[in-house]
Amino acid sequence: APHAASATPPGIDIDPSKLIIEETKTPGKLQNPEELVFGKTFTDHMLTIEWTQKDGWLNPQIKPYQNLSLDPATCVFHYAFECFEGMKAYKDAKGQIRLFRPDKNMARFNKSAARIALPTFDPQAVIDLIARFVKLESRFIPEKRGYSLYLRPTMIGTQKTLGISPPGSALLYVIASPVGPYYPTGFKAVSLEATDYAVRAWPGGVGDKKLGANYAPCIVPQKEAMSRGFQQNLWLFGEEEYVTEVGTMNFFVAFKDKKTGQKELVTAPLDGTILEGVTRDSVLSLAREKLVPEGWKISERKFTMKEMDEAAQEGRLIEAFGAGTAAIVSPVRHISWKGKLVHCGLKDHEETGELTMRVKNWMEARQYGDEEHEWSYIC
Ligand code: PMP
Repeated sequence: APHAASATPPGIDIDPSKLIIEETKTPGKLQNPEELVFGKTFTDHMLTIEWTQKDGWLNPQIKPYQNLSLDPATCVFHYAFECFEGMKAYKDAKGQIRLFRPDKNMARFNKSAARIALPTFDPQAVIDLIARFVKLESRFIPEKRGYSLYLRPTMIGTQKTLGISPPGSALLYVIASPVGPYYPTGFKAVSLEATDYAVRAWPGGVGDKKLGANYAPCIVPQKEAMSRGFQQNLWLFGEEEYVTEVGTMNFFVAFKDKKTGQKELVTAPLDGTILEGVTRDSVLSLAREKLVPEGWKISERKFTMKEMDEAAQEGRLIEAFGAGTAAIVSPVRHISWKGKLVHCGLKDHEETGELTMRVKNWMEARQYGDEEHEWSYIC
């Protein structure tokens, strides 16, 4: 069973047929899509599903977007019983709404929930409910390429107690925010600062789970990088200075082999310190499908800042990019490391490399349904 580690007693899982819908009486105005700011405006409704230890998952509801009312002693506020997901709904050329690999997000959501003693759930039930929700909010999804509805499934422990114990009640909710293209005027390559004084994740830790508690401590290193003129920080790990992730994206680099000249696309392996990105998995899969026949090697392996620096100096660093739901791919210009700049293959006038561009197009073709593919889930 996909939720074998479930805290949910059998028979009282989420039941989409019990959905209760209360539509808003005060529909909001649509914003001009060009003026959308990421995560600032939300749709008219929210999806909520409560859980209690005694009764399991209660009837799902779609209701007007509204404040939550929680006691100040609620466990989420004290011990961070919170996990979340980030995914998008896209409108295709025929006006159909599509989710991109929602099964991946739900599997990760369940793993995150289980790790912090929150209840798990039937992933297909929540996908069905999200499909109902996004169809109700259809008018908020601009039809243009690059636009989408960002979905934020969230789960919190809602028990009122300062005792540190498994929450006896929880709330799963989904809110939705219309978003525009990450790069409205075309790609802009980012400059990174390699962070050497803090680590994001460590072996045996929870960096591979999408827990809210993983994100707040990342803001100071991000702010530090920005104060020195870099857009993002690059997370390293260990004395070896393994390259792990960039900001809140997985990191890819393309090398040319020193001896054979073979091209290699590399990303860090899922060793427990890397968030299991849906984009990461999709890029790897696309690369195996499309680049291997062109002679590329695709690797999930550890690599270090030193390896990147050497390759850059020898002209063997072809390209580097971040990969995540928000931007799809984000080209990297250079990385500040040990007082020098490691150049990532772009010429001064270039904002993206050819590979990064190709990856973006491959991804969008499947997200927007231009290419019919099993990754695309029609609502
Ligand atoms: N790494 C981290 C730390 C993240 O927060 C995210 C965003 N979920 C990613 C990578 C990219 O994951 P995805 O492709 O699923 O958006």
